[in-house]
Amino acid sequence: NGHAPQADLKKIDVSRLKVTLSSDLKPIPSFESMLFGKYTTDHMLIMDFDPERGWSTPEIKPYGPLSLDPASSCFQYCPNVFEGTKAYLGPDGKPRLFRPNMNLARLASSVERIALPPFDADALLILIKRLIMIDQRWIPSLPGYSLYIRPTIIGTRVGLGVTESNYALLYVILSPSGPYFPPSRSILKRRNWVRLLASSSTSAVRAWPGGTGSYKLGLNYSPCFAPQREAESKGYSQILWVLPVDTDKGKDWKVCEAGNMNVMCAIRRDDGGVDILTPVLDGIILPGVTRDSILKLIAEHNKGLPLRGLSSELQIQARETEIYMSDILRWSNEGRLIEMFGTGTAAIIAGIWKVGWEDDDIVVTPEMEDVLKDSEEDTNGLGKIGKALYDRLLEIQEGRVDHEWSVVI
Ligand code: PMP
Repeated sequence: NGHAPQADLKKIDVSRLKVTLSSDLKPIPSFESMLFGKYTTDHMLIMDFDPERGWSTPEIKPYGPLSLDPASSCFQYCPNVFEGTKAYLGPDGKPRLFRPNMNLARLASSVERIALPPFDADALLILIKRLIMIDQRWIPSLPGYSLYIRPTIIGTRVGLGVTESNYALLYVILSPSGPYFPPSRSILKRRNWVRLLASSSTSAVRAWPGGTGSYKLGLNYSPCFAPQREAESKGYSQILWVLPVDTDKGKDWKVCEAGNMNVMCAIRRDDGGVDILTPVLDGIILPGVTRDSILKLIAEHNKGLPLRGLSSELQIQARETEIYMSDILRWSNEGRLIEMFGTGTAAIIAGIWKVGWEDDDIVVTPEMEDVLKDSEEDTNGLGKIGKALYDRLLEIQEGRVDHEWSVVI
């Protein structure tokens, strides 16, 4: 039919990479000023797709603006996808990535959902590694700091016809980042980031069955801005996304995600053990890399690799299951809801302290106020289990222990 075979369309020719180094390197900003996503590095990786010849020669060149036709589909129908992962500097001084193949697989699935041209994920990973080596001096050496990597693919078909974009631009930019929630001495500020407002009170939903919630499409994010603003105006830091559902027991709200994070609840069982519950991957929530990693770390805890800071006697069971607001309310009333946290690349694990629900607050951890008051350290608002998981994840990501998830570049 005149179209190139699928394998050829995906092809990115790494061997022809063109590198143009910047002659005007930027000064590295101070650690304190490195708010998430604020700065970009000296270089970017870029290539474009044209249906006749496939992916162009990849290029690493000085970071700078794009020039695009105003009728490009990315500005109109938003066939735009992105990813987020991080590079860390190991104690050996070598940069490493954390499970990058999971992000690239998710990027490929987002691309497919929105009918953008496919790409060779292995080739893209090689190119991302080259970009990171070139901008290596931007990886902050401070613990808890890293270089955030933002691969982006946008539709660049020119024309206002409402149809898929058979032209695309793929680029990767880098941003040095400190902790997502900067440590603050102010108790008030700390309180803010651990308060979620259930989205039922804004009557907005983030995603729905058959929708696109499980993909990283730009258009999943902008409709969250107005509800987010409403939550902030009411004194909450983020939205707890819930979805109205009919259950056997009547109307309820299904818990989906905490802001731009997956959500987990630690529930004390009658036998003294703890269940870590997180919503199932039902196509509504994003399949988080951090979520997956935490589920696996909990499984390891039970197989003789106990998490530091937790007794090996403590039985922790991770389960993917439906969670409803009525459950959270009941667990809280019974005093079983001992921890709740959000998980994601940017924040890693962030403790949830309160959930605004029907004009009231469900208090997850009443003792959190004391924890915050006493703590000199930035605990990300975490309880014991969350903190143990956070420490374990970070030591793997930063290459302080050997682990197959940490990929040395
Ligand atoms: N949910 C949403 C909506 C997100 O944007 C993210 C961040 N990618 C996550 C969850 C967490 O995913 P990950 O652990 O892969 O960063």
